[in-house]
Amino acid sequence: MSDIIKLLPDHIANQIAAGEVVQRPASVVKELLENSIDAGATEIKLIIKDAGKTAIQIIDNGIGMSATDTRMAFERHATSKIDSAEDLFHIHTKGFRGEALASIAAVAHVEVKTKTASQELGTHLKIEGSKITYQEPVSTPTGTSIAVRNLFFNIPARRKFLKSDHVETRHIKEELYRIVLAHPDIKFLYYYNDSENLNLPKSNLKQRIIATFGQKMDERLVPIEENTDILKVTGFVSKPEFAKKKRGEQFFFVNNRFIRNSYLHHSVINAFEGLLASGYHPSYFLYLKVPATTIDINIHPTKTEIKFDNEQALYAILRSTIKHSLGQYNAAPVLDFNRNPDLDTPYSYKDKKNVPAPGISVDPDFNPFKENLERPSGIYKKNTANWESLYTRTSIATETEQPSDNQSTLLFPNAKDTSNYSTLQVHNKYILSVIKSGVVFINQHLAHQRILYEELLTKLTVEDTASQQLLFPITLHFSFGDMVICNEIKNDLESIGFQFAAMEKDSVTLSGLPENVIPENLQGLFESVFDNVRNEIPESNFSRIDTIAKSLAKGLAIKNGVALNELEREKVLEDLFSCKEPNYSPYGKKTYITLPSEEIQLKFDP
Ligand code: ADP
Ligand code: MG
Repeated sequence: MSDIIKLLPDHIANQIAAGEVVQRPASVVKELLENSIDAGATEIKLIIKDAGKTAIQIIDNGIGMSATDTRMAFERHATSKIDSAEDLFHIHTKGFRGEALASIAAVAHVEVKTKTASQELGTHLKIEGSKITYQEPVSTPTGTSIAVRNLFFNIPARRKFLKSDHVETRHIKEELYRIVLAHPDIKFLYYYNDSENLNLPKSNLKQRIIATFGQKMDERLVPIEENTDILKVTGFVSKPEFAKKKRGEQFFFVNNRFIRNSYLHHSVINAFEGLLASGYHPSYFLYLKVPATTIDINIHPTKTEIKFDNEQALYAILRSTIKHSLGQYNAAPVLDFNRNPDLDTPYSYKDKKNVPAPGISVDPDFNPFKENLERPSGIYKKNTANWESLYTRTSIATETEQPSDNQSTLLFPNAKDTSNYSTLQVHNKYILSVIKSGVVFINQHLAHQRILYEELLTKLTVEDTASQQLLFPITLHFSFGDMVICNEIKNDLESIGFQFAAMEKDSVTLSGLPENVIPENLQGLFESVFDNVRNEIPESNFSRIDTIAKSLAKGLAIKNGVALNELEREKVLEDLFSCKEPNYSPYGKKTYITLPSEEIQLKFDP
C-alpha cells in the first residue's frame, strides 16, 4: 500500500477549530476507536487498565499503516481523510482534523504496532512526549494496535486533575457505548483490568442494545421508524413504564455520529408527555439520517454538537413518530393522535352558549380555592353522578374501627379526634379519602389539572368569560416566534379571560386575567403554552384549543408539595368527581388510584 497521508495546508488547519482533544482517558478512547472504525476494522478490542490512567490499548483489524504513515500519523494536522476545507461538508469518516494522534503522543507514552495487508513485516514505533524513541520492523497481524500509557505523564497538574477511577471509567464507558451503538456491524471486545467486560458480536441494532445493556432490554423497547424527505428515523425508545430515575441511556445518532441536542431531546420527552411520572426519564436510541448539507457538525471541537437547518420540522416529525409508535405498541393507552378529536372530547365545541355577565374581582390576595368555595357553582353545570355512584364516601372516623378501650388512646396519645375529617393529605401530594369499597388516593396536581382543563375547555367554548381586572397591567416580553403564536391564539386566550391592553412587536401587556389565575410566573406559563401550540401537529381548530387548555391547566394546577387544608382537599375531591372524565389528567395520567378493602385485608391475611 502506498503512503496516503498528506499534511493539511496551514490555512485549512486554521479553518478547523482546534480544540483540546485530550481531556481525559475517555477522549483517548474515543479518538482511537474512531480511527479504527475509519480504518475499516470489523473487530476492535479495547483494553483499559486503571481507568485508563495506566494504559489504554486498542487493537483493530483495519487497513493498518505503512512505516512512513505511522510516523506521519503523529504529526499535527496529518490526516489521510481530507484535502480541502470543502471536504469538511462531505466527510463520512469520524476524524478529519488530523490532530488526535499528535495530541495524544504529546502527553503520553505511545506504542504502535501496525501492518498493512500488502506488507510482510509491520512497523513497531514508540513515541514519548512527541519524540520517537524507537522504530523497528515487527511481525504483527494486519491492522493496528495502539497502546497509550501514563497519560499526562509530563503534565502533572492535568494528571492530578483526573477524577476517581470510578468516574473516569464511567466516561470511558459512555464513549464506548456511543460507538458500539453506532456500529452494530462491528465486533467489539472490552477488557477492564484483565477481565472481559463486554463482548459484542456483530449483530443488528436491537441485539446490540441488548448485548450492551442486558437481556432486560428485550421487553422494554418500542421500535421507531419514519421516512420523510428531510429525515429518516430508526431506532428504539423504552416503554414508559421502564423509565428511570436516572437520565441514562439516551442516545441520538445523526448520520451515524453520536450527538447531543437538547432541542431534539425535548421533542422525545414531549412525545412521552403524560406517560412519565415526574422525575423519570425514558431511554432512547434514535438514529437520524438527514441530508449532509442540512447540518453543521463543525461547531464544536469534539463534534458531539450539531446544528440543523430545519430544527422545527425535525422536532415535529420526531415527536409525532414516537407518539405514534408508543400508541401502536399500547405503551400509551390514551395517546392516539390520529383519532378524530371531535369524537372524544367531552365537550361539544359547536354548542357555544351564552353565560351570565361576568363579575369583576380585584382581590390582590386572590386564592383560587377560597374564591371557588365562596362562589356559587360556576359556569359549568356540576355533574355529581360520578361522585355519587362510584365514590360514596364515609368519614374516616366512622369507617375506621373506633378505639374500643383506653389502650388505643394510650398508643396514640397525641391523636386528634378525626371524626370530622373525611380526607387526609399524604406527603403534601395525595389526598386520601375513605370510600365504601376501600380507600382512594388522589394525586392533587393531576386531579387539579383535570379540573382546570375541563373548566378551561368550557370557557374556551363559550362566548364570555369572567376576568379579574389587574390593578397594575403586566407587560411580558417574548421572542418574535412566540409573538407570532400569541397573535394566532389571542382570541382563544381572550375567551379564557385574558385581557390584552396592548400587543407590541415583542411584548404584550395584560390588563386582565382569568378568574382562577394567580399573576405569578405568567411568563413561564405563556411560554409553555406557545411551545406546546408550536409543536402541536395542526389537525383541527379543536386540537389547538385543546392544547391551550391542557398546557394552561398543567401550568396552573396546584403543585405537588403544597399543603392543602380540609376545605381545599374537599374542593379538589368534589370538583374532580364532578368532571366528565375524572379518571385521567388531560395528559393521560391517572388522577387517582383506589385500594380496595379486600386488598388491604389480604395484606394482613395473605
Ligand atoms: P484523523 O483521524 O483526524 O485523520 P488522527 O490523528 O486521529 O487524525 O489520525 C491520523 C491518521 O493516522 C489518520 O488519518 C489515519 O490515516 C491514520 N490512522 C490513525 N489510526 C489508524 C488506525 N487504527 N488504522 C489505520 N490508520 C490509522
Ligand atoms: Mg482520528
